[in-house]
Amino acid sequence: MAHTFLGIVLGGTRLMIGEISLQGELLRKKDYKTVFFNQASAQDMIISSLHDYESHVGWVGVKPVAMGVGLIGRVDSERGIWQQIDPDRTHPINLAHTLEETFGMPCFIDNDVKASTRAVMRWGAGHESNNFIYLYIGTGIAASIVIDGQQIRGAHFNAGEVGHLKVGTSVGVRCACGRTDCVETIASSVGIDRCARILRKDYPDTALQVPNNERVSVEEVFRLSKTGDPLCVRLADNAANALADLIMNLVRVTDPDTIILGGEMLGIEGFLDQVKMKLQPITMRFVTKGVVPTRLDARYIGLIGAGAVAIDGIEKQSNQS
Ligand SMILES: [Zn+2]
Repeated sequence: MAHTFLGIVLGGTRLMIGEISLQGELLRKKDYKTVFFNQASAQDMIISSLHDYESHVGWVGVKPVAMGVGLIGRVDSERGIWQQIDPDRTHPINLAHTLEETFGMPCFIDNDVKASTRAVMRWGAGHESNNFIYLYIGTGIAASIVIDGQQIRGAHFNAGEVGHLKVGTSVGVRCACGRTDCVETIASSVGIDRCARILRKDYPDTALQVPNNERVSVEEVFRLSKTGDPLCVRLADNAANALADLIMNLVRVTDPDTIILGGEMLGIEGFLDQVKMKLQPITMRFVTKGVVPTRLDARYIGLIGAGAVAIDGIEKQSNQS
């Protein structure tokens, strides 16, 4: 039986656990609904879900070699410390050590977008490019920037939070980072919902449903924009313009040859084409391999990426010994 690796990825509302082969195939998986309020309760949830997985799903063959975890927020992957879940809640915890002790398996951790990028580097377009940007566009927006084959991490593990760049679109949405109209507040699914709530008073005849207790459907926004609904046209145009400007700004900073896109927003029909129409050819002339959706399965890229975190960790250990 070939060696396998365990991947765990924690999102805002769910946790996925899966077993991954050395070739990046997802062999088994299970989803868990999650509710947590801080890193300590998230850690408890990871531990109880892993116990459930071990007893109810079980290993494909022998016990996996190692586990990798993709997390929200700032992660010191070298030391295995989960620094922060969001700017309001800073309680560094030694998650890798706790999971190692609990499950008797080496554990390595990283930020979820950086973990996805490790999957791209190992099994995706990273094979053809050493200078690319992986841009996640979903409930939020974040990037991992790879230069000369190295992921940029920064002094506080906070590099790549490009969702908080401003791109010239004005709606007046306050962002948790302290600024207004960050690209994430304009072009992510959560951002489009917030913009719809602010702008709908100017468009009393819109057909868009803005429910009180759930998010506006982004699919509906883009569908109605094609019928000419003025609110939806504005929301969709704002999002496409904001993302195109973000991509062109990033291209100017690090000179990538490829922009790889991931995240739930890519599932919206026509969305990527709308963004690409706004890109200026002169600005984009060195992005010779294009602005392309990841060819890894977008639904599981974070989970496969967590597997890549485990494999990277083991490879690094064996290189050092
Ligand atoms: Zn912000």
